[in-house]
Amino acid sequence: MPAQAPGSAAEPDGLEDRLQRFATIWSRAVFPVTATSLTRPEIERHLLPLARDLSDALHGRPFDPAPAHRVGAALVAAHCTDPDALSRSLGVVDSYLVLYCGGDGEPEELRARCARLQHALAAGFAQALRERTLVEQEAIARSALVARTFAEQALHATEARFRAVFEGAALGIGIADLDGNVLEVNGALTRMFGGLEHHVRGRKVSEWVHPEDAPHVWKLYGELVRGERDDFRVEKAFYRGDGTVLWTNLTVSLLRDADGVPQYQLALMEDTTERRLLNLRLRYEATHDALTGLPNRTLFFERLDKVLSSGDGTRFGLCYLDLDGFKAINDSLGHAAGDRLLVEVADRLQSVATRPGEMVARLGGDEFVALTTGTDTEQQADELAHRILGALATPVRLDGRELTVRGSVGIVEGPAGERGPAEVLRSADITMYRAKAAGGNRFERADPEADARAITRHGLTTALPAALDRGEFFIEYQPLVHLGDGSVHGAEALVRWCHPQHGVLGPDRFIPLAEHTGLIVPLGRWVLQEAVRQARFWNRSHADGGPLRINVNLSPTQLHHPNLVADTVDVLERSGLDPGALCLEVTESALIGADEDLLKPLRQLADMGVDIALDDFGTGYSNLANLRRLPVSVLKLDRSFTQSMQQHPIDPVDLKIVEGIVSLAHSLELAVTVEGVETGAQAEQLRELGCDTAQGWYYARPGAPDRIHSLVLADAV
Ligand code: C2E
Ligand code: CA
Ligand code: CA
Repeated sequence: MPAQAPGSAAEPDGLEDRLQRFATIWSRAVFPVTATSLTRPEIERHLLPLARDLSDALHGRPFDPAPAHRVGAALVAAHCTDPDALSRSLGVVDSYLVLYCGGDGEPEELRARCARLQHALAAGFAQALRERTLVEQEAIARSALVARTFAEQALHATEARFRAVFEGAALGIGIADLDGNVLEVNGALTRMFGGLEHHVRGRKVSEWVHPEDAPHVWKLYGELVRGERDDFRVEKAFYRGDGTVLWTNLTVSLLRDADGVPQYQLALMEDTTERRLLNLRLRYEATHDALTGLPNRTLFFERLDKVLSSGDGTRFGLCYLDLDGFKAINDSLGHAAGDRLLVEVADRLQSVATRPGEMVARLGGDEFVALTTGTDTEQQADELAHRILGALATPVRLDGRELTVRGSVGIVEGPAGERGPAEVLRSADITMYRAKAAGGNRFERADPEADARAITRHGLTTALPAALDRGEFFIEYQPLVHLGDGSVHGAEALVRWCHPQHGVLGPDRFIPLAEHTGLIVPLGRWVLQEAVRQARFWNRSHADGGPLRINVNLSPTQLHHPNLVADTVDVLERSGLDPGALCLEVTESALIGADEDLLKPLRQLADMGVDIALDDFGTGYSNLANLRRLPVSVLKLDRSFTQSMQQHPIDPVDLKIVEGIVSLAHSLELAVTVEGVETGAQAEQLRELGCDTAQGWYYARPGAPDRIHSLVLADAV
């Protein structure tokens, strides 16, 4: 929605009218708490452009909350500085902005934007107020100087002129002798103390000790009355006659007679009580979660930082809680229900973490933390985690329905002084994920080794995409050998990552991560392209003999990718490699329970002549009857079978199993490859059992492509 020029009457949906109404409501809300001489309609005129700014910001593309920040500052500039003026303004924005100015925007988004506008408004207000306070303090310092000059002149010259300054001042002014007897006070000062003159005049300055006095206040005072200093300025609290507390910015100056001998002291006071309250309130809002009222991340970090930096044998225990399946509740029952659930969880947590040194906070979303401190936190932390899980055990009633809430807790415990808050929290987060991965509804304790692994894993995951762009991956080839005559019949492409810090990493270190993040698709495509190009090169330079075959591994995600067939066809066509020279290896587990939709791309590839191998066959799930249904032409027997051929004597049952698999495979016209052949004895045994091809260190470890080339040439010779 474009910004409207003020007063453009032709506005079709009456936005201008609605802005006007919004400004009216706003002015009614803030007028009673505004300390200016403006009338309500005048305030309304003042608020109208601010309302327009908020409305424009609500619809801005891209969204930018900065105008609301300026609106907060504008409120301060308009003397709407009372704490209530802010909370009332926030209330009006919350209830009416979307209602009157939302137009036909998407409600969820408008609400979210409105909340952010309120935050920006409050922040703008607080900042402007702080800045104004600084300016005012300077003004007070200046007026203190002026008043002193006046007072000095007045004492020596016209009493009348002094009186006028004295009584007319908005600041509280009082005069006392050097023994501290209060001689004169003006109306403003009397009003600050509650309006009764005898509560101030005739008292002694020394009676005004307050428990919150800074230590240096009375030292400065002593120096002043002894004539050792001319003035001082402090923040000081006083008790009023009715026992309430008055906070002031206090400036005290020494008045000397014409010969320079100290005679009186002059106090200038500015009432800062309201401002302090507002600051406390703003601080509260900045450090507490608006939904649950719990301390928020900011306050929690402050507290944790304090605990962690205290020495003397202090220990801490931190429980990091994340609700299990909260997103599902939010999605199915709606955000309002989700919010109520969080409030209920917050209440329960708070009611179980009440011992000295314990605190609960909400970090955001469905993540909470509980902290315990003391000397015996090793036990306390576990115990606190028990209490937390126990607090969740009773189902939550929401809209007449019973919801079972569960959570996962990561515990970090240890002595203060070793780690910072960010590190501790990260460890707790990692540990919480471990609890979640183990099925949830449980707690786990942090384990530095598991942390380190998770951190490396995280580092590797984030480095993966750039690594592909920078060409840090390379392929090693391991020959596939005919068991009958020992000739090289092809090679399997095995990817490696040459990591700039960690050196060469094997696929087990990063394939699962790439799989998890989806990077496996471009990485897998690169491997295919590279391996096929390599195979084509071998076959060109070695035209006699049969063509060398190339085996490439496919991960489950690649199998599900819609472009699998198109990409493979493209790679083959570009290189000119015969489809019959390519074999794609798919793990047995990826095909368990596969339906026709999943098998279709493989079937298409098989129809083109590409071989499909069932990798790691026999690792537990095999349903041999199922094999018939799959578009597979090769079985790769898992390494565990080969290992069992190593024992002396070989277990006859193992022999029978392999023999059975081989004969079944052959009856289904599948070739059998064995992996992990490390000794000649194994190779001989497997050959006798009828296996067709083999792969393993006995023949060659995976290596550079030219190794394969020379092996083939040696064969040919
Ligand atoms: P795999 O497909 O079962 O590959 C065979 C693994 O056994 C290779 O490990 C190989 O180095 C190792 N090996 C070969 N001969 C012997 C032997 O005689 N004894 C022993 N103990 N091991 C032997 P590698 O290279 O670490 O690969 C591990 C797995 O990573 C592979 O298992 C494969 O599943 C996966 N992988 C490798 N490259 C790729 C790729 O480009 N894409 C995908 N998706 N996965 C890949
Ligand atoms: Ca393989
Ligand atoms: Ca394998």
